Amino acid sequence: MILKELISNLAILVAILFVYTQLTNSSPLRRTSSRRQKITAGVLAGILSNVLMLYSIPMDSVIIDLRHIPVVLMSYYGGSIPALIAMVLTIIGRFLFGFTTQAVLAIIFIGGTTFLTLFITRLELSKMKKVFLALTLSNLIFTIMLTFLSLRIDTLISFGLSYWSISYLAGFLSFYVVEYVRRNQRILNKYKSESVTDGLTGLNNVRKFDQLFNDVCTEAQDRDEKVSLLYIDIDHFKKVNDTYGHVEGDQVLVELSHILTSTVRSFDHVSRNGGEEFTVILLACPAQRAEEISERIRKKVQNHFFRLATGESITITVSIGIACYDETTNTPQLLIEEADQALYEAKQAGRNQVYLSNKFAREHV
Ligand code: GH3
Ligand code: MG
Ligand code: MG
Repeated sequence: MILKELISNLAILVAILFVYTQLTNSSPLRRTSSRRQKITAGVLAGILSNVLMLYSIPMDSVIIDLRHIPVVLMSYYGGSIPALIAMVLTIIGRFLFGFTTQAVLAIIFIGGTTFLTLFITRLELSKMKKVFLALTLSNLIFTIMLTFLSLRIDTLISFGLSYWSISYLAGFLSFYVVEYVRRNQRILNKYKSESVTDGLTGLNNVRKFDQLFNDVCTEAQDRDEKVSLLYIDIDHFKKVNDTYGHVEGDQVLVELSHILTSTVRSFDHVSRNGGEEFTVILLACPAQRAEEISERIRKKVQNHFFRLATGESITITVSIGIACYDETTNTPQLLIEEADQALYEAKQAGRNQVYLSNKFAREHV
């Protein structure tokens, strides 16, 4: 009978924790979470404690339940605000069961557990030790409370042993579930971000560029907005590598990425499309403005001293090709081809130049 009740208690606890952790996985409860999130979590935990009280496991003249677990979890993950809210709701719920000696003891138990757990979570201990200590102290308080119920000694011992086992089992299981969901989510987020980020510079990689480019093309056509694309390539970068080595070359690429992001607007998309080739998608930007921005980038790069690990400083230059929808082309999908061609022409013209695509002129010379 106890086993049946225990399984349903654990099932409720695990299912609710799993759903809650999944639903909040984009911003899990932390001590630094917003007050609103902490209050919501505290209220939900209080409700969960009350549900667990409803499913309490009767043993002789006393009952076992897992109401303290949500409170311990709140203290651990969210700190005092959600823990105290969950505690108060649990106390109110307990009073609704009737105002008896047991109810007063239950309040001392839940209050003691909350404050001790809050204290323990501030200690410099490993996660597991904190959980173990919090559960142990909570179990101790419960056992002390039991001694006030003038139970027979054999009942007290068998009840106490059952309680300690169930409390440890439920406590560790709950932490395991929460940690498991959080860890998986962290790994998933990491892989997601790595799959669209250039490992060296932290800019968008070419995969992300393709995705952004397609979205931007569709939006530009739908909203009839101008969009410009810059193709940027370092001049004679091979020489930098040959002279100073690949590692120093990488350092130059990182510094250039900083120049690019700090020169364009925060909502423009800067990507490293491969090697020493970068792109910028300038949103709602006409060709003339794109030329001004490109010229600013070109000058900034030319005047910047790129510091190498050796302490030396070097200078480099870049060539930039520009295409603009709907000024240099009426087909957004042709922006890449056009900007690339303009870049080629900038290189041909001697490098360290900004070239706007002029397909019409090219086709008629
Ligand atoms: P150009 O002015 O015509 O663009 O000359 P370039 O030397 O820059 O062009 P080229 O395409 O001949 O060489 C590109 C060089 O970029 C070759 C390679 O050594 C270097 N490179 C490509 N990817 C990386 C990278 O990830 N790190 C470093 N350090 N160098 C890279
Ligand atoms: Mg180059
Ligand atoms: Mg190149």
